Amino acid sequence: KLSKRLIDVANFLPTGATFADIGSDHAYLPCYVCSHDPTATAIAGEVNQGPFDSAQANVRLHGLAGRITVRLGDGLDVVREADDIQQVVIAGMGGGLIKQILSDGKDKLDTVNRMILQPNVDARKVRIWLHQEGFLLTEERIMEENGHIYEILVADREGSDPYKDEIMDKQFLLGPYLLKDKSPVFYKKWRKEADKLSLIITQMEQANNPDLKRINQFKRELIWMEEELV
Ligand code: SAM
Repeated sequence: KLSKRLIDVANFLPTGATFADIGSDHAYLPCYVCSHDPTATAIAGEVNQGPFDSAQANVRLHGLAGRITVRLGDGLDVVREADDIQQVVIAGMGGGLIKQILSDGKDKLDTVNRMILQPNVDARKVRIWLHQEGFLLTEERIMEENGHIYEILVADREGSDPYKDEIMDKQFLLGPYLLKDKSPVFYKKWRKEADKLSLIITQMEQANNPDLKRINQFKRELIWMEEELV
């Protein structure tokens, strides 16, 4: 059975999706999508041999080899022009790695009109990259499963820009949509992060050579968090 996290990710794909799932591991997500939607097709990309093998085995087991192509390669290298992919999914990695994969493979995104990105940490890095590259963040989700909190970011070519100049840095950190409609999971995540950050600030202030610039940035971020936790 597919995790609730990946079901949430899958639900952002349109019917008849032609998508690439980068870092597909067992190819659980493309198998789920293509077994529920007979008009969907997918490329499952994996950089590691072990996960690549299990992805291929799983696709065959589901009888989906005709509609899911599993390829071994780094990031978006596995995508070819002829694939004409419309959507990209990258889930279950850090935001820094997701950003790296997107920027390394930028030329493969020409045909893509939707990206569904699920960073385990550092969602801010992904939001900033999307904004810089002119992708519009159109939806966000925050959810909890098995004690982990996940964020899902949806970016489209078209839509409206959720950022406001005066509070943009705060929105990059906390998520413009997640901020607008704060859920219990949002409070839980940021309460924990705020407590962690305030401990880090205390420790940094006690250091021999305190990095004041960094401390001030962290203090600013802590204020953003606390403002939203009242
Ligand atoms: N996407 C699945 C999910 O959300 O459950 C699997 C997540 S798993 C933690 C991350 C996967 O990404 C691993 O199977 C790893 O081999 C793969 N991976 C890491 N870096 C990659 C890269 N640069 N290109 C393709 N796959 C990568």
